[in-house]
Formats: sequence, C-alpha cells, structure tokens
Amino acid sequence: MTSTGREKICDLVIRELPMALFIVDDRLRIIEFNAAAERITGWPKKDALGRPCSDVLLSSLCGERCPLRESVENGRTCRERDAVISTRSGQKKAIILSSVALVDDHGRLEYGIELFRDATAIKKLEAQKKNLISLFTHDLKVPVAIAGGFLERLLQGKAGPLNEKQVRYLESIRREIHRLEGYIRSFLEIARIESGRLELHIEPHDLGRLLREIVDGFKVQAAKKRIRLSLELPDSLPPVNIDSLQMNRVISNLIDNAIKYSYEGTTVRVVVRSGESGPVVEIRDQGPGIAPEEQEHIFDSFYRIPENGAGHVAGTGLGLAAVKAIVEAHGGRVRLESEPGRGSSFMVMLPRAGEEKGRQGAGGGLPVGSGQERGAAG
Ligand code: ADP
Repeated sequence: MTSTGREKICDLVIRELPMALFIVDDRLRIIEFNAAAERITGWPKKDALGRPCSDVLLSSLCGERCPLRESVENGRTCRERDAVISTRSGQKKAIILSSVALVDDHGRLEYGIELFRDATAIKKLEAQKKNLISLFTHDLKVPVAIAGGFLERLLQGKAGPLNEKQVRYLESIRREIHRLEGYIRSFLEIARIESGRLELHIEPHDLGRLLREIVDGFKVQAAKKRIRLSLELPDSLPPVNIDSLQMNRVISNLIDNAIKYSYEGTTVRVVVRSGESGPVVEIRDQGPGIAPEEQEHIFDSFYRIPENGAGHVAGTGLGLAAVKAIVEAHGGRVRLESEPGRGSSFMVMLPRAGEEKGRQGAGGGLPVGSGQERGAAG
C-alpha cells in the first residue's frame, strides 16, 4: 500500500470511528478531533483544534489523574477509565476513556491519543442495578433477623433439649447467619454512602497522628506474617478536614488488604506525600499485584479476584467498594498502581482543606445518581 493510500485510510478511520477520538501534541494541544468527539463534547473540530485537551474535556481525570501522563510514566495504555466531562454547553456527561502515549527516545510525550465513548446509558443501568440490589438486600434483612431469632431460641433449649451434634450444627448455622448479616450491613452502608445518605462529620484532624494510631494497631497482625510495616510522614503536615472514623476505616481496609494479600517477610509502606490537590496517603505492598484487567473491577461491591497468587484469603469483596465510596464522599479519589508480581500501591488523594465536599455522597458529581467510577485506577 502506498503511503498516501495509508494516510487516506487513517483519515477515514479517524473520521468514521464510532468512538470519539482526539490526538494531542507534546504540549497536550489538540491536533485531531473526530466527528464523534464533536458530538459528545459539543465542540466543533475547528474550535477544538489548538486548544489544550483539558480546556475542551474539563474532565474529572484532568490534572493529577491525567491518563496520558500516567501512560507516559508507565509506558502502558490506560484502558476504560471512567470520567465525567463538561460539554461545551456545561452539561455533565459520564464517559469511558482510554488513552495511549507515543513517546520519543527520551521518554517524553510526542503524541497522545484519547478514545472515549458516552457512558450515560451504562451509568444509568449501573445505577438501576445497584438500586435493585439495594432493595433486595434491604428485604433480606428481616427474614435473616427472624431466622437468627428462632435459631437463638433453639440454642437456648426453648424447643426442647439438644444433643451435642445438634448444637454443633446450629452453631455453624449461627456463624453463617452472622456472616450474612455482616454482608447485608456492609452493602447497605456502601449504598448509603454512595447515595449521599451517610452524614460525614468533617473536622480538622492531624493526619499523621491518625495514621500512627492505625499503623500501630496493625503491628501485631503484620508481625504474624513477618511483614515490616512502616509509616513515612513528611516533616510538616497541615491538618486535614475529614471524618476521622470513616477515614480510619479507609486506611485500615487498605493496610489490612496489603497485609492479607502480601507474602511473608515482605514490606508494607504507608507513605504520605503532598499531591497537586492535597495530601496523598499511599499504601504500598510487595504482594502478588493486580492484573490490569482486574483493576477495573476490584472497587465493585462483592468483586473478588478468584486467584491472585496470594492463596486463599477470606473476605467479602466489599472493602474496596467502601474505601472508594468514603473517599469520594470526602471529595477525594482513590487510585491504584499495580504490576502483577511486583505489588500494589493504593493511593488515597484527599482534597486540600476547604475543598472537601463534606456531606455530599460519592455519586454527587455524576449525572446519573450513584453510578460507580469504574476502576478508580486512574
Ligand atoms: P476482600 O479483601 O474482602 O476480598 P476488597 O474489596 O477489599 O475485598 O478487595 C477486593 C479484591 O481485590 C480482593 O479479593 C483481592 O483479590 C484484591 N486486592 C485487594 N487489595 C489487594 C492487594 N493489596 N494486593 C492484591 N490484591 C488485592
């Protein structure tokens, strides 16, 4: 094929692609913008060309979470990131975006390609699915409580004496009922946080002190697996406005996972640094890591990776869903960087004091209720 033939085909593909596509240069200025991108963003190509992509997309991923920047750093394609953009007329729109960076010999950005599609319908479906699960879970509460009540009566001998085997069996049933009650409680709580119904008690807190207390509390659990657990704080750390109880839950969940899924004799580091939009708490482990295709899902309720090299580890698949919901309710973000075989790093990006959302729920920024931001990996 001649090079002009190839160019014509490339032009045609870009123009007719049923997905939005734009290309940016080394300064993140738009140099190509297809018809689907015009439709989704409301920007005509002629006006978009030459502008910085962040001016056109006004996306929740712009800035610290820029997927192109991440692609340049790790040399990989960022796949299927959820984001919310503002269209030219100011309408909020959920999109799913992938991006890839072409870098020069020095690792500097030469061109960036961003592909995205409108995710409004998917988000609506996700929200409906969640509402249904929520309703169903809510309805489960009563029968489970009644079953538990009758079980207690049986165990107290109120229906006649029990032999040893019967007691053993009933105690097993009691354990499972408690587990089920735990799932129901956690799930309903996540739904409450996501829909903004959980009141956060935001107050200024000393983040260093909170982290020291949490890390100290995990020392015994870490020592049992011969895991070195360290906390690295910057010299000065201004107070953060958080709900300390909920934030304790977030960090505890992440440290608990880091220890649970890590190999014996490794290190788990809790590092605080200052990010572009506020403090970042990073929990880094040297465990099995999380494959890129799993990273999209692990923040979904009940999602567990069947086999990730850490052997059988008990859990509910609700911990990270709660982490994400709580952090987003604070106006922050959770990001995951992980390479299979080399460990994982979960980053909690907190908003700078004064910029937190307070009582607002995690779904607040999305156009469709409680839609999840898939794979808060970006
Ligand atoms: P749980 O730990 O109860 O299964 P989570 O929501 O906390 O639920 O985590 C979801 C899944 O993500 C886990 O089942 C595990 O497979 C994976 N995961 C979480 N944290 C890590 C980690 N630090 N290293 C490797 N895998 C992890």
